[in-house]
Amino acid sequence: MKERPDLGVFPMGEENTAYAPYFTGKSYLAMLSTEQVVIGNVTFAPGCRNHWHIHHAKEGGGQILLVTAGRGYYQEWGKAPRELFPGDVVNIPAGVKHWHGAAPDSWFSHLAIEVPAAEGKNEWCEEVSDEIYSKLK
Ligand code: MN
Repeated sequence: MKERPDLGVFPMGEENTAYAPYFTGKSYLAMLSTEQVVIGNVTFAPGCRNHWHIHHAKEGGGQILLVTAGRGYYQEWGKAPRELFPGDVVNIPAGVKHWHGAAPDSWFSHLAIEVPAAEGKNEWCEEVSDEIYSKLK
């Protein structure tokens, strides 16, 4: 595994054990804001990605990712994976099944902004299969 690079200006936080059941590999989480708008800094070790999931909401909701370091991917169900680099912005509408995480050989960090929602909740689904992930560079 490559040495951890400079992962940007935000704290990396602790190992993300609370969400570990929904991740493949090791991730880290630092909550940057828990008021007004909830913002977390999520850092993925190389090869780490979260499971397919859906941010549900009755109104509003979804998630915005601001990529701050490394290289990773975002993929919506039934679509091609999108490679991500620092400075990229991903708008994830409520109700869309997707995953995000690191490239196989790179650390990856993004801020995850929780878009305020009425009756927001996350639904965690299956792991990203090796068939999908092993095709990524
Ligand atoms: Mn998400």
